[in-house]
Amino acid sequence: MELDKMDENDWKYHGEGNKSLVVSHVQLSRVLRLLKYPAEDSENPPQTVEQAYRQIQNIVDFSSNVMSSLLGEKFIHSGEVVKLPLEFVRQLSIKVQHQRPAWRCDKVMDIYSGCALCLPNLTSPVLHQPTHTPPLCIEIKPKCGFLPSSKHVSKDIKTKVCRFCMHQHYKVANGKWKRRSLYCPLDLFSGNRQRMHFAIRHLIEEPQNNFKIFKGGQCVYSSKEGSDDSIDLNSLLHHLRPYFLYGNNRINSHMTSKAVLNDFIQVLVNALLSGGGGDGGVMTDRRGEGRSFCEASLFNKERIRHGSQGLPSDSVLFRILQTQMLDTQDIEGLYLLYRRVEQHLQDFPKERTRLQIDGPYNEAFLEKLQKCPAEDDGSVEYAVAKVHQYCAAMTAKDCSIMVALVPSSEEEEDDDGQRRLRDFLSSRPPAFSYSVSILDLDPKPFDSIPRQLRLDQKIVSCYLRTGGALP
Ligand code: ATP
Ligand code: ZN
Ligand code: MG
Ligand code: MG
Repeated sequence: MELDKMDENDWKYHGEGNKSLVVSHVQLSRVLRLLKYPAEDSENPPQTVEQAYRQIQNIVDFSSNVMSSLLGEKFIHSGEVVKLPLEFVRQLSIKVQHQRPAWRCDKVMDIYSGCALCLPNLTSPVLHQPTHTPPLCIEIKPKCGFLPSSKHVSKDIKTKVCRFCMHQHYKVANGKWKRRSLYCPLDLFSGNRQRMHFAIRHLIEEPQNNFKIFKGGQCVYSSKEGSDDSIDLNSLLHHLRPYFLYGNNRINSHMTSKAVLNDFIQVLVNALLSGGGGDGGVMTDRRGEGRSFCEASLFNKERIRHGSQGLPSDSVLFRILQTQMLDTQDIEGLYLLYRRVEQHLQDFPKERTRLQIDGPYNEAFLEKLQKCPAEDDGSVEYAVAKVHQYCAAMTAKDCSIMVALVPSSEEEEDDDGQRRLRDFLSSRPPAFSYSVSILDLDPKPFDSIPRQLRLDQKIVSCYLRTGGALP
């Protein structure tokens, strides 16, 4: 990829979130992640080129120096900042515009700075050798997997019903989604296979922005926001079926839809519980019990046959949950510490740099975050460290997991007849090679904390008014 010879015809629309738009290269396994900002500001960009460059460099630094240490290097691809020709960016923005979902068009792509983040394309990984079957990639945005236990929590309901489940009522009440998702993150993070299976089934039934499937780098399954259509399970099954035909099923192509879906979910659960790569392997060092239940989850506790195993400590879910749990005070307790920092900065504005309020996200930042004393000594340093821990936890509550699956029997078909025969005759689901990554690891700004407190209050009061009262 030569930065001075960029051609918009080599790139296509790939997807977008609330803060960035992503295009993928048609041949290379690369994506460009460009910033977005509110459409009202489209005439005059909200920041200078230098500021845009700094913002993206901060994302790279935060990901590589802070989050990769908390989440595990093996899951993280931090990428690099690139400076693109402005003409290329303008042409690209015109080219992708008509493919963007209407509900995302309240923001426009940044065409002024020419800055972007260049990353490996995690939906078309180059796993082992190229195979005939395109890789299947599943993106899960799991959200927060635990209930707060801080003494600062003022409403009892927050210790019983998880944030995601409460937030669903708020989103439906505000028209953001037509239907509530019955997914509960506490089930996904439980480490109990039955509960995880249950959670993923509900992600499939109502994906919202928490679940997507890519085949050969193309998104083949996701939600359309605001749309009334119930999701098209048949088209999903059409995509999945070829990956799950094995044993006798391969001969007569007969396999019930339920069996295909069950096998798919089982493979996904295996990948989420694994150490992050390879062909399965043994579970080791399971730590902790399934932490808790959310009262809003429809999973019937009595159904648990095998007890709670907890998450293996090398699994992606364990690492994400541990990082989320750096939020020890809950937003209600954290806000008090935020106020302490804010007061200090009003009195001593120059301290903003020494305290690294807006970065830089280097080793010193990570050390401050990790060496935070257990007890509050009343200092501003303690408050800053807690705020930084909270912000890292927020990033871990917002990140996505990408699981890439490649059927491994296929790979060995040509050179290992034995293996092929075994798979062919086997009555077990086929083996997959998989790799697990974490994406979307932007730092959360210090100033977003008051907004977090207000949102928390709105969600809880909405739930108490509406959702909590429903059967
Ligand atoms: P959010 O609203 O969740 O904060 P965001 O604006 O921060 O999203 P991302 O989540 O980083 O943006 O990217 C948007 C989408 O683009 C992702 O959900 C994913 O589907 C796709 N994407 C992002 N990075 C990659 C990558 N490295 N490889 C493949 N696809 C990617
Ligand atoms: Zn829940
Ligand atoms: Mg995202
Ligand atoms: Mg994001």
